[in-house]
Amino acid sequence: MFDTLTLAALPAEGEAIRPAIRAIAEQAIANASADVRARSWSGFDRDFSRLLGRSGFLGLTLPKCYGGAELGPFARFVVVEELLSAGAPVAAHWIADRQSAPLILNYGSEAQREYYIPRICRGELVFCIGMSEPGSGSDLASVRTRAERTAAGWRVNGQKIWTTNAAHGDYMIALLRTSGSAGDRHAGLSQLIIDLKAPGVTVRPITDLTGDAHFAEVFFEDVELPADALIGEEGEGWKQVTAELAFERSGPERIYSSVVLLDAWIAHLRDARRDDPATCALVGDFTARLGTLRAMSIACTARLALGESPVVEASLVKDLGTRFEQELPTRIGDDLASHPDEGVDAELYRTLLYVTHIAPSFSLRGGTREILRGIIARGMGLR
Ligand SMILES: Cc1cc2nc3c(=O)[nH]c(=O)nc-3n(C[C@H](O)[C@H](O)[C@H](O)COP(=O)(O)OP(=O)(O)OC[C@H]3O[C@@H](n4cnc5c(N)ncnc54)[C@H](O)[C@@H]3O)c2cc1C
Repeated sequence: MFDTLTLAALPAEGEAIRPAIRAIAEQAIANASADVRARSWSGFDRDFSRLLGRSGFLGLTLPKCYGGAELGPFARFVVVEELLSAGAPVAAHWIADRQSAPLILNYGSEAQREYYIPRICRGELVFCIGMSEPGSGSDLASVRTRAERTAAGWRVNGQKIWTTNAAHGDYMIALLRTSGSAGDRHAGLSQLIIDLKAPGVTVRPITDLTGDAHFAEVFFEDVELPADALIGEEGEGWKQVTAELAFERSGPERIYSSVVLLDAWIAHLRDARRDDPATCALVGDFTARLGTLRAMSIACTARLALGESPVVEASLVKDLGTRFEQELPTRIGDDLASHPDEGVDAELYRTLLYVTHIAPSFSLRGGTREILRGIIARGMGLR
């Protein structure tokens, strides 16, 4: 069935940028403890994102005429892999670089491309994704937040939830109902760019299990948007969102969320001089799975490089990848607990606690496990 997911090697031009991005990532984390580095996904640092932009590491897949590097998805894979392995703070450019800019490139007007994409490539704009609403997460087509046409453009009323980075963001790309009712499902949905500083927008941060507040509720009360806030065609929002999710689900970000913990644990094993067969088998198990998942993610990247939208394959990578990421803290915690004679230093302990607390979210964010398995089953012709 997955004959579209054939092994692909990272091409030389992708590998060529690894030393430079590794050097920048290492500099960024030089003084950061492992538990801070484990927060890589939610580490918000506009200065670091601007540095990446200045150094040519943002917009790698985007055309040069909009400030991109035209190096393609393999180069982006290498950059993301290096940043996450190191635990560098990626949140301030993450969503814009991965999703918003390609979406605007593919569906936006020329004016939107010229305005937003160069700023994203410079690491200046923070975007967030306004898909989920109370009652509309997995059942995304049921969104109710509405944008009505006015003489000048659009008026938005409703609410979004779980919006990562809304509190620090500049713009949201929101999936909104522009015609019909929630019962119409896919028809009548459109994507609009909302300036988060616009009058009528209220952002209320939500604190998660770890005590961090990286996502938020966002309320819209008679928010007036210009006519050119619409991305692409009115009513095409569902199609656009589906393509966007393939970018979100296939990348190395679905494999490396717990990797700082894995590194810290292996360093602990070295310090403790533990190399018995059971320990080696556990390290080998993690390493082999990481290698396999990485190969699958690269295979998806190869499809993206061909301009395809590997929705089913991306779902497979995300489901297997997040299962791996979630197993790491559990099995590492069990391993440390079963060696009470070894002292565990405070940094490793804090890292384990953080990753244990955040891990349940890995299989929720970007689409839940059950939904992904439904997509995979449909792709295999099972439903
Ligand atoms: C850390 C984090 C960051 C997030 N960031 C964003 C963001 O930036 N922007 C955004 O728009 N959203 C974001 N989300 C929201 C996320 O996409 C949703 O939480 C997710 O899609 C699930 O939707 P829900 O919470 O409404 O749960 P529900 O859809 O209510 O699901 C509840 C449970 O029921 C199961 N379920 C639902 N439908 C089915 C079905 N048909 N078959 C089988 N099982 C089913 C689900 O798998 C789940 O286990 C984020 C979530 C997290 C945890």
